[in-house]
Amino acid sequence: MEERLEYRIFTYSAYLLNKFGKKIFRVGLSTGKICPHRTNNGGCIFCNPQTFTGEYQSQDLSIEEQFKDAIPRIKKACGDVKLLAYFQDETSTYGSINFLKQKFDQALSHPEVVGLVVSTRPDYINADVVSLLTSYQQSVTIEIGLQSIHNSSLEFLNRGHTFQQVEKAINMCGEAGLTVGVHLILGIPNETYNEMLETVKWVSYNKYIKQIKFHNLVIYKNTTLAEMKNIPPYTIRDHIENLGNLIPYLRGDIAVSRLFTSNIRRTQIAVNRYRGNKTQWMNELRKILYKKNLNQGDETDVKYDYRKYYK
Ligand code: SF4
Repeated sequence: MEERLEYRIFTYSAYLLNKFGKKIFRVGLSTGKICPHRTNNGGCIFCNPQTFTGEYQSQDLSIEEQFKDAIPRIKKACGDVKLLAYFQDETSTYGSINFLKQKFDQALSHPEVVGLVVSTRPDYINADVVSLLTSYQQSVTIEIGLQSIHNSSLEFLNRGHTFQQVEKAINMCGEAGLTVGVHLILGIPNETYNEMLETVKWVSYNKYIKQIKFHNLVIYKNTTLAEMKNIPPYTIRDHIENLGNLIPYLRGDIAVSRLFTSNIRRTQIAVNRYRGNKTQWMNELRKILYKKNLNQGDETDVKYDYRKYYK
C-alpha cells in the first residue's frame, strides 16, 4: 500500500472533505483591528506582524475588497472550491460586538462562503462574542491560542494570559456548540519534551477541542525573542522528531490543520534553523511514522483510522 502521511495523521483536508463533502479553501481576511496585546502590553515576544499578514489581507481593505482580490487567485489555483472565511491575523474578536457582527455578516453573505473561522486570544472571548458566533447558521470554528499548558512558558512568551484563562475560554466556546481549534507552539525555550507531551495529552483530554495547529517557534527579526541571548536551538529536525513522538498522544479525531509554522518568511528570520522546505519536512515525518509504525491517537482512547475518511 502507498505510504501517505494522511494515512497516519487525521489531516484538516480530510476533516473538511468529510464535513462539507467537497473541496474547501480558507480565504484569509482581516477585521482591520490591530492586536490589543501588542499595542497595550508589548505583545508576545515572538510576534512580528510582518510575518503573518497575507498578501491579500490588508487592514485598509473592506471585506468585499479583500474577497475581490483573493477569490480569483484561489479559483485559479484550486479550481471550483467553496470557501471558509478565515479571520486569521491579529486578534480577530477584538472590537465592539457591532463592529465584529458587521465584519462576520459581510464575510458570511458571500455566496461562495460556507462557514467562518475566527482566530483569537482567550482573553478576547466573552459571552457576547460567543453569543454572536453561535447565532450563525453556517459552520463556525474558533481558533484559540493555547501554546502551552505551562504558565511559566506563557509568562516567558509574554502571552498576557494564563493557562486557566485558555481552559475557561475553550470550555465556554465548546459548551456553546462552537467547533474549537487550538494553536500550540513546540520549541518554547527551556520547555522540555515531557512538558510538550503534557500539553498534547491535555489537548487530547479536552472533549471540546476538534482541531489543532502545531507551530515550531520561529525567531523573527525585530522581536524581543531575537534580542535574547542564550536561547537554546530548536531546529526543524528537533521539531520533526518531537512531532513523530507526540502524534500518537493526540486523540485520533482531532484534525491537524498545521504541523509547521506556516509560510516561514525567510527574509525575516533572525536565527535560521530551517533547511529544506515543507514538503521535505512532511516527507521526513511520514518516514518516521511508517518506520516506527505510529498513528495519531495510538496512545489515546480514540485511534485514527484513515479508512473512515479515505474510502
Ligand atoms: S496575540 Fe498574536 S497578534 Fe497579538 S501579540 Fe501575540 S502573537 Fe502577536
